[in-house]
Amino acid sequence: MSDARKHIEQEVPFLSEIKGFMDPEEGEALYEIALKTATFGPLLEVGSYCGLSTIYLGLAVKEKKSLLYAIDHHQGSEEHQPGEAYHDPELYDRQLGRMNSFLEFQNNIIRAGLHSWVVPIVCKSEVVSRFWSIPLSMVFIDGGHSMEAALTDYRSWAVHVRPGGILAIHDIFRDPSEGGQAPYEIYNLALSSGLFKELPQVRSLGLLQRVGR
Ligand code: SAH
Ligand code: MG
Repeated sequence: MSDARKHIEQEVPFLSEIKGFMDPEEGEALYEIALKTATFGPLLEVGSYCGLSTIYLGLAVKEKKSLLYAIDHHQGSEEHQPGEAYHDPELYDRQLGRMNSFLEFQNNIIRAGLHSWVVPIVCKSEVVSRFWSIPLSMVFIDGGHSMEAALTDYRSWAVHVRPGGILAIHDIFRDPSEGGQAPYEIYNLALSSGLFKELPQVRSLGLLQRVGR
């Protein structure tokens, strides 16, 4: 077991119980790269769900006394809706008549002791971005996976990554038979913009660094 993994599991012993869509190796890579970049400014995540990726990033943020903005409307993506492949009935709020992962997210963040390091923003990503002007040391995109949603997130957030900072995109599948192509499309857009250079990918986690200093 790596030192990073030992530290993560020591800080958050209930990590393996958290609902979510982040492979441990990818989570560890997020944590490691966030550690390197977090001293240069706050981080931002699009798509927190129950807080699994948030905790990996949040632990690095806490260590470096930085800050993580965690955006999610908590109503689930298309694949989380009733009848869809990744629907979780435990996250369905009968009173509201819709998905709501916010309570689960909030519980997990508090339980992990990260509530002073993670700022939840419960809203559609594109709405939050409208007047955004804070330069970010890292942006992690893991929101909606339709082409429209991914493009909107890319257009809304990639511009806010400061020079030297990191743009991380989840669910990069170079082979279409392995998964949807929208995240890979925006990954390629970022590359062809000339503003980002490629870092080694970790499983489906694409990592790009903004050029310049
Ligand atoms: N990073 C999480 C998984 C995220 S799943 C983990 O580690 O487990 C994708 C999330 O994106 C869902 O919770 C969904 O509610 C959110 N989402 C989808 N489209 C969004 C949008 N336009 N604005 C904000 N959140 C969105
Ligand atoms: Mg994902």
